Amino acid sequence: MGVPSVFLRTFGCNFKCQGFGMPRGELSQEANNIDPVNFKKYEDLPLVSTGCDSYASWDPRFKDLSPMLTSDAIANRIMEILPFNEWQDEHLVITGGEPLLGWQRAYPDLLNHPKMSGLKEITFETNGTQKLSPEFKDYLMQWQMPGVDFNREITFSVSAKLPCSGEKWEEAILPEVVCEYEQVGTAYLKFVIATEQDFADAECAIAAYRKAGFKGHVYLMPVGGVESVYTLNNRTVADLAMKNGLRYSDRLQVPLFKNEWGT
Ligand code: SF4
Repeated sequence: MGVPSVFLRTFGCNFKCQGFGMPRGELSQEANNIDPVNFKKYEDLPLVSTGCDSYASWDPRFKDLSPMLTSDAIANRIMEILPFNEWQDEHLVITGGEPLLGWQRAYPDLLNHPKMSGLKEITFETNGTQKLSPEFKDYLMQWQMPGVDFNREITFSVSAKLPCSGEKWEEAILPEVVCEYEQVGTAYLKFVIATEQDFADAECAIAAYRKAGFKGHVYLMPVGGVESVYTLNNRTVADLAMKNGLRYSDRLQVPLFKNEWGT
């Protein structure tokens, strides 16, 4: 939090998370009711307050609003965004959708690009369900080998989806997948909490990850893409984290930028 970061958002997700912000068992239709023919630009799409707030980055109906870019074009765009037009202290956060789908095949080409050579820290924001391909795992391992003269830090920020997301437990809580991430970098878990039931679910999930050997930190984060919802339960979730020896994750972007595209 507070680290200057460039976010690279890939298209596609294996989930829909239509349960967020809804009474348990109900699915949001907010994004489904948006008609793509009315919109020419990603930035013009309506923001939603229930379901996945990143719907435009995975719903196939909006795919044409996301450009298909070469590694060269992405690297050039990143240089334009960076304040000194080169990597300094900034992190690269690769997010989605779900960034560890087939995109794993494309990252080496981008990360080997000469303009990315100064990049030192990379975070994958993932839902923790996608195994690393053997090729991509080997690629990431190169920076962890003893004696390498250039060490890139790799972090997996795993937002595992509890039943409040509307996704099925057996498809969302896959401890062995997340344990594998710890072989190539640092991994932490982050659970979005709205109710006591969510916390009870998080406790069950944490027990399953620990049983599988997961060693990383665990964060609780209050639900709330918009400030009115967020401020309702952030103190309660912080108290829960403190009482249970867990970490608390704020949502700095909500008070800073409100609910806007690009945040
Ligand atoms: S896993 Fe993330 S990007 Fe995918 S639908 Fe759920 S909240 Fe949205």
